Amino acid sequence: MTDWWDKQIHRANHLAPQANGSKELLKFYAQLLRAQKDVYEFLRGCQSWLPSGDLECDLPMLLHAERLMMYWGNSSDIQFFEKAVLQPYLRWVADTGARPVGRAASASERFCPFCGGSPQVSFLQNKETTAESGNRDLICATCLSSWGFRRVVCANCGEERPAKLGYFHSPEFDHVRIEACDTCKHYIKGVDLTRAGFAAPIVDEIDAAPLDLWAREHGFTKIELNLVGV
Ligand SMILES: [Zn+2]
Ligand SMILES: [Zn+2]
Repeated sequence: MTDWWDKQIHRANHLAPQANGSKELLKFYAQLLRAQKDVYEFLRGCQSWLPSGDLECDLPMLLHAERLMMYWGNSSDIQFFEKAVLQPYLRWVADTGARPVGRAASASERFCPFCGGSPQVSFLQNKETTAESGNRDLICATCLSSWGFRRVVCANCGEERPAKLGYFHSPEFDHVRIEACDTCKHYIKGVDLTRAGFAAPIVDEIDAAPLDLWAREHGFTKIELNLVGV
C-alpha cells in the first residue's frame, strides 16, 4: 500500500509543473500526501499494534500521528487535520482486514460500504461490466477506498433521469468532467481512466480545480470538498 501513496505523490509532482490554475494546490497536495504517507508508515510500523477499527480505542496512536502532522507544520483548521489523519488511518484499518467500529454505516449505495463516507470523486475504467454497475466507481472522501456505482445516477441524491443529469467538460481537461445534478444541485468530478489510464483520480480532480469554479458559478455545490478545500 506504500505504492499507492507513492503513485498519488508522483502524479501530483508530475501534474504540478504543467498545471493551469492549480499549480499551488497541487504542490500543497503533494506535500500533504507525503505527510499522510508518513502517518500511514508510522501506524504500519507500530510493533505489536494493529488497529481495532474502533477510533476510541485507537485514538492514542492517532494522537501520535496527529502530532506528526502538526510537526509538518500547517496552520489550517482542525477539521483538516482530522480528515488528513483519518484517511491513512482508515486505509491501514482496511489493509489489516479490520472494520471501522461505530461509524454510521448506510445501506445506500451512495455512501462508502466500508466506512459510510461520502464520495470524493468518481472514475470510469474498463472492467468486466454488468448492466447493474456499469464501469463507474466512487472514491470515498474519508477512507479513500472505492466502490462500484451505477453510471447515470446522481451520487448525491440518486436522481436517475438523464434529463436532470448534466456533464461539463473543457478541452483543457480532456479526461475530467463535472457530473452535475439539476435536482439536488450537487456535483462531483469524474475522471475517465479509459482516456488517461495513468491518472490518479484524487490528484487529477485537484489538477482540474478550474472546473469547480465553473460548477460553483452555475449554482452547484460539491458533494464533499477535498483536502485542499476545493
Ligand atoms: Zn470509506
Ligand atoms: Zn442529485
